[in-house]
Amino acid sequence: MQKIKEELLAKFIAVFGSGGQITPYFAPGRVNLIGEHTDYNGGHVFPCALTIGTYAIARKNTNRSLRLYSVNFDELGVITVSLDDLSYAKEDDWANYPKGVVWAFAEKGMKLNAGLDILYFGNIPNSSGLSSSASIEVVTGYILSQTFGFNTSFVDIALISQFAENKFNGVNCGIMDQFAIAMGKKDHAIFLDTSNLEYEYAPIQLEGAKIVIACSNKKRGLGDSKYNERRTECETALEELKKVVAINTLGDLSEEQFEQYKDAIKDDVRRKRAKHAVYENQRTIQAVNALKANDIATFGKLMNESHVSLRDDYEVTGIELDTLVATSLEQEGVIGSRMTGAGFGGCTVSIVKEEAIDSFIKNVGEVYLQKIGYKADFYVVEIGNGPCIL
Ligand code: ADP
Ligand code: MG
Repeated sequence: MQKIKEELLAKFIAVFGSGGQITPYFAPGRVNLIGEHTDYNGGHVFPCALTIGTYAIARKNTNRSLRLYSVNFDELGVITVSLDDLSYAKEDDWANYPKGVVWAFAEKGMKLNAGLDILYFGNIPNSSGLSSSASIEVVTGYILSQTFGFNTSFVDIALISQFAENKFNGVNCGIMDQFAIAMGKKDHAIFLDTSNLEYEYAPIQLEGAKIVIACSNKKRGLGDSKYNERRTECETALEELKKVVAINTLGDLSEEQFEQYKDAIKDDVRRKRAKHAVYENQRTIQAVNALKANDIATFGKLMNESHVSLRDDYEVTGIELDTLVATSLEQEGVIGSRMTGAGFGGCTVSIVKEEAIDSFIKNVGEVYLQKIGYKADFYVVEIGNGPCIL
């Protein structure tokens, strides 16, 4: 971390020049251990923040502009945005993410009285389901809060970041990503009820096992439109169910209640989607209980069942993620494996015994390359804290 920080400070001065008070920040990425596609259905999720994420070096400037540079997109150079015109602009490309956060702070009454120079660098893969977008948003929100003395709480930084992603960037995401990142806690996952934002930290003690993320390197493609389609399917199913049972969200139903009332959903596909939302929520609750009882085997089994449900009922996996999970489950020392994130590409998350990790990466990597035709990337990750000044 120290080395990255020094390199980025030098790069900041090379890009923007020296002088003034320059401050280095970090916000994590996140991985969701279980509870997928439940966060916009009023259900539970169980994500944790990672020690990889987004670094940002920031300094106030005097010309009422945001000057934004990303090492990950260095070919685009410095993108300059006026504080007096905070509207979405296609040509601003990635910079619409931090710009959206500045816009969202202004919408909530927190206007900047000076501009900022910010250099970003992310060491999580983009568009892979580890939430680089929420990471860059939350680090930006934290910079604004710290630099301008807004004293915004971490929950509010999460909510404002989600507001920015929804309303400025037009991505209809739930609250999980920004919450998991803003509220991250070392060696803990966050058991979050998305219907009311009540949460509990659960220690992750994996007894000689680690979290291994496999990135399929499959770009999401149609993923975003399918994501919105799933949301609409669930909303329609909820309206149908509301005619026969008093609920506010699909997360209000137990499995038994779902089986009792499911015929109110008039379409087979919609019924499968709602079934996933209900069962996945219950699985998440069971998984956290298993973890609290130190029953890692049951936790792993529920992860595997989560993947099957996402594959067969929610239909958001695809050959790449299915290959990674199926091959992972054939390996020695694997406690559980599933896709994580929105799906259609992106990553899987597996819990693997430490002594088996090398052979896991080698074997799964080889089968994936042979079957899919390009490489997967592997990350053995640690669970880290939320945003900080470095
Ligand atoms: P995910 O959140 O799963 O990584 P998204 O498609 O939601 O995928 O967000 C990825 C986008 O977020 C990138 O294409 C880029 O526009 C922006 N982004 C994330 N991290 C960075 C970064 N370090 N520098 C610049 N832009 C970033
Ligand atoms: Mg994202």
